[in-house]
Amino acid sequence: MSDPGERVGSNSRTVEEGPSREYRTLADTLEDGVFQLDAEGRFVAVTDGIVDRTGYARDDLLGAHVSLVVRETDTERLERALRSRLESDGDDTTQEVVIETVEGDRVRCELQWSRLVEDGTFEGIVGVVSEVDDRTGAGGRSESIWERYESITSVIDDADVGVFILDEAFDIVWIDETIERYFGLSRDDVVGRDKKTVIEETIRDRFADPDAFAETVRATYDDNTYVEQFECHITAGPDREERWLEHRSKPIESGRYAGGRVELYYDITDRKESERARRESERRFRSLIDAVEEYAIFTLDPDGRLASWNEGGERIAGYDSSQILGEHVSVFYTDEDRANEVPERQLARAREEGSIEDEGWRVRADGSRFWARVTITAIRDDDAEIQGYAKITRDMTERRERERQLRRERDLTERILETSPVGIAVVNSDGSTSRANERMAELLSVPASEMSGYSAGQREMFDANGEFLPVERRPASRVFERGAPVYDQEILLSPATERRTWLSVNATPITDDGGSPERALVTATDITDLKKLADRRKRELQEREKELAAVRLATDLLETGDQPIETLLREFVTELPQFFKYPERTGARVSVGQHVAATDGFDRILPTISARTRTDTGTPITIEIGTAASTPEPDAEPFLEEERELIETLATLVRFHFERQEYIDELQAETRRLEQFAYAASHDLQEPLRMVSSYLQLLERRYGDEFDDDGEEFIGYAVDGAERMRDMIDGLLAYSRVETRGDPFERVDLDAVLDDVLLDLERRIAETSTEITATELPTVEGDASQLRQVFQNLIINAIEYSEDIPQVEISAERSGDQWIVSIRDEGIGIDPDETDRIFEVFQRLHSRETHAGTGIGLALCRRIVERHGGEIWVDSEPDQGSTFSFTLPAANGVGGS
Ligand code: ADP
Repeated sequence: MSDPGERVGSNSRTVEEGPSREYRTLADTLEDGVFQLDAEGRFVAVTDGIVDRTGYARDDLLGAHVSLVVRETDTERLERALRSRLESDGDDTTQEVVIETVEGDRVRCELQWSRLVEDGTFEGIVGVVSEVDDRTGAGGRSESIWERYESITSVIDDADVGVFILDEAFDIVWIDETIERYFGLSRDDVVGRDKKTVIEETIRDRFADPDAFAETVRATYDDNTYVEQFECHITAGPDREERWLEHRSKPIESGRYAGGRVELYYDITDRKESERARRESERRFRSLIDAVEEYAIFTLDPDGRLASWNEGGERIAGYDSSQILGEHVSVFYTDEDRANEVPERQLARAREEGSIEDEGWRVRADGSRFWARVTITAIRDDDAEIQGYAKITRDMTERRERERQLRRERDLTERILETSPVGIAVVNSDGSTSRANERMAELLSVPASEMSGYSAGQREMFDANGEFLPVERRPASRVFERGAPVYDQEILLSPATERRTWLSVNATPITDDGGSPERALVTATDITDLKKLADRRKRELQEREKELAAVRLATDLLETGDQPIETLLREFVTELPQFFKYPERTGARVSVGQHVAATDGFDRILPTISARTRTDTGTPITIEIGTAASTPEPDAEPFLEEERELIETLATLVRFHFERQEYIDELQAETRRLEQFAYAASHDLQEPLRMVSSYLQLLERRYGDEFDDDGEEFIGYAVDGAERMRDMIDGLLAYSRVETRGDPFERVDLDAVLDDVLLDLERRIAETSTEITATELPTVEGDASQLRQVFQNLIINAIEYSEDIPQVEISAERSGDQWIVSIRDEGIGIDPDETDRIFEVFQRLHSRETHAGTGIGLALCRRIVERHGGEIWVDSEPDQGSTFSFTLPAANGVGGS
């Protein structure tokens, strides 16, 4: 860029044609080159600016075609403009041109041009050329300065450049309209007047700093040899606006006003304003940077040394700016990084790439480390020269730790999710899958890779009854509908196939901030095995119940025992099929020895299971169960293991029944034989015994007198023995006849029975002074004469085995459908070890000398009581008396005594 002072001095030529001298001077003073072309595009006038820029001599330019100095393409545009001549409206009159200098250099310039029309004739164009890089210096110039060119006056007037032209006496020769506007002056008021006076009178006070302004300008008049340039600030007034101006002035060295001075005022308000704004934003930015504590923000010089430092840096790295400024950035790096020249390489990369990011360990002033996230940006000037680096460092230690922690937790969650034996999925409200683990995919038989695309309803599901389960009744849908969790919903997958899979599904809402369900967490567990187990258990239980019922039936049937065996077996066989799987198709056959019973059509039924056994005596028992070949499940085993076990059990039960029956029959036969024997024996013994007794009596009667004392005594013993024998035989006879010679049972009033007995024993009672008390006795079912025998025997014993005055107490109490009758004495009592033995035939606890008796009385009582279906027993302790009790069936329909 040329200095305007030099330029003015270096050329004294003037443009011959065209604008008046003032304007030529002015035009030469302008930094920009001004030229005029004729209608053919030939130079008719050029200013120093054009001469300087092109390097051609003025004479070479004048008359030469514009293409001499303007690149060919630009020339074509200019020629087009020339051709269009009068059609000025709408043309773009600003364009870029490249000037080719005499040395062959190319200079990029901006060209503004206007058509030159005089008296309606197109005369050519006037153009102003400014170097593009130079344009900032021309601040605030309107782009339309040259648009309506009538004379350079108007060009100047229209330009936002204020112009004073002063003659050598520094009187104002001319001012343009811009000055009038900027300064609030009127041309008529000031032209012809002394500039210094005008400054003092009017101009100076219009500036924000009047003294400095006046002084500086006045100095140029005192020594009018130099170029002056300064900025000044005009205040607002009634006739002007506030604005910033740049004053440029220089001496006029030739022409009419040589020795005078030209003063130009450029409006730089916008520039000032933007400078101020820039400063302000810089200031703000600075305080912003300082205020940022979380980031160390600093700049490095091109060598990597710290040029600026902020609060954040102090906070993070622990240095204050006095310590750190001027240090190399590598102080922040670890020894290892320094050894590997990491800092240098990072700066180099920032230079290459403009900006880089990095994370890594850095070192604080105290030597501790922090995890830093760093951005390094290379700063370059306009010429792309490296100016330094801006570096932003953030302490990420905590965040890194947090992130690691989070990552660890996420990894853990992930692992839990993936190793979980439970299927887990997060379902969105539209039914799509937000997340699912592999197990879920596996349970749904969806490939894991497709699980993310799985949508509710894609898989058919069924409820516990095997009914199709529509999407809206599935757990996730229900969660969205109700907003509440769903627990343990059982879902059946593929009910028809072999692999029936049962799931137990839970679903819980995941709510948004407002508490409404946004997603649902669904978990699914395979409960197929559990279900199977439960089913098996249930079946087993049912089987057991069936078995139990069957066993109960068998025991009940067999227990009754009274029916003839045919009836028994028929009933049993009829009931049996109901305990098997297909009762209508099942038949049964049971045989015990010669007796056989079967359900109708058993012979026509096939697959059969059977149980065989024998009673102790060898009676064969067989139970057979058959089922029709065409059962609902033809391939399945027709019988369960349990059913086989069941008939074995039943067979055993039947065996027990018949064994017992056989045993009872055997016993009864035995007893009958014994009775017959006892009867026969006692009956047949009676005859010889009677003979012995008769002949003993005969001996005594006939020869009694001939016997000596011994003889008489011996005869007495023999008679006594025979009598005892008769008593024993009578007792035995009575004993053997209890079953066979008993009367049929009838209603028996025990009170009457007792009265008879007491009457019979009247003498004995009187002799022994026995005291007898009796409560009211009941009426029972029985054989009256036998019961009389029982009462008589027990009362006689009570008297016999008492000492002093016998006390006998007779009572009865009800127990269920029986009566317990008791006969109590206060006698000698019985050793508890002997209480069973005394009820057997001929068993006595005393010798004949102490107590007379045959030892058959209690045996007879027991036999009679047993015939009545009752029991007899004794409660006693020696010397504590004895209570003999026996039970008898209460008489039918009569509850009381
Ligand atoms: P006996 O004809 O000997 O009385 P029992 O069969 O009537 O035969 O009695 C058997 C035995 O029971 C008696 O010998 C006696 O020892 C004992 N006994 C029976 N009744 C009583 C009683 N009331 N008190 C003590 N002992 C008794």
